[in-house]
Amino acid sequence: MEVTVDKSAGFCWGVVRAVEFAENELSVTPKMYSLGEIIHNSTEVERLKKAGLTTVTVEDFAKIERGSKVLIRAHGEPPSTYKAAFEYGIELIDATCPVVTKVQERIRKYTEKGFQVVIFGKKDHAEVIGLRGVTDDEAIVVLSVKEALETVNFTKPTVLFSQTTMDKETFSAIKTALEERIANLEVGSLEEEAIEFHAKNTICGQVSGRDKKLREFAKANDIMIFTAGKKSSNGKVLFNIAKEENEKTYFAETIDDLNPEWFLNVTKVGITGATSTPQWVMTQMKEYIERNFGL
Ligand code: SF4
Repeated sequence: MEVTVDKSAGFCWGVVRAVEFAENELSVTPKMYSLGEIIHNSTEVERLKKAGLTTVTVEDFAKIERGSKVLIRAHGEPPSTYKAAFEYGIELIDATCPVVTKVQERIRKYTEKGFQVVIFGKKDHAEVIGLRGVTDDEAIVVLSVKEALETVNFTKPTVLFSQTTMDKETFSAIKTALEERIANLEVGSLEEEAIEFHAKNTICGQVSGRDKKLREFAKANDIMIFTAGKKSSNGKVLFNIAKEENEKTYFAETIDDLNPEWFLNVTKVGITGATSTPQWVMTQMKEYIERNFGL
């Protein structure tokens, strides 16, 4: 049996940066906090916990010592979090991904101009909570064309944004549906200027750029093991892409989720993951599969 780890999988640079922020601080501070899990990967959260990183919520600010360091993860936070940190004397280590910061800034500008802001994303996702916060929670968050048609006011000047980890196809469908009903619909973009022939959106290239490579990798293997945290948003998108190309794509958060039956009469096993899956987790899984199911 040949087991290969997908070279294009692993942390996106926004997450690598946040983990580096945490590791740098932990090298000089024995104890610090992360607002929400730094990464949607329980193994990596556990590793950093051992190094001194404790996960907290904004509600915990009242209980932790003044002057404590609290890391804002790559997803970013709403303005209310910065206000609460100031009130409780918390020192924020802001590891918001620069791509997310850019989207927050763009949304802020449109809000100031009085636009109705529509975000294609998941209401309870940390990044979306941050984006909505910029609009004082006025933004309309939709997951489908149907939801957009039911909730958006077509008579207002409107701008459409996307959570950075959503799929392009649904975004385009929502955009088309709104364009048909709203004159001069604006579309939020990561580029300063609209680039001709390039679709404008705020979907992160780290996610959308992986489609092609992942499809090729999925096709080249008999079975695929997709490893990611169950809460990872881009994990779900990427898992579905792999599954489209290879029906025998299985989800396993840890080695305990591996089913020996998957490996019967299989020659080529591919291991891949989400942008929040560390390379070392995939390497560990490869070694485990080779040891236990390789013969
Ligand atoms: S997926 Fe993109 S936007 Fe999200 S944290 Fe990674 S680099 Fe940043």
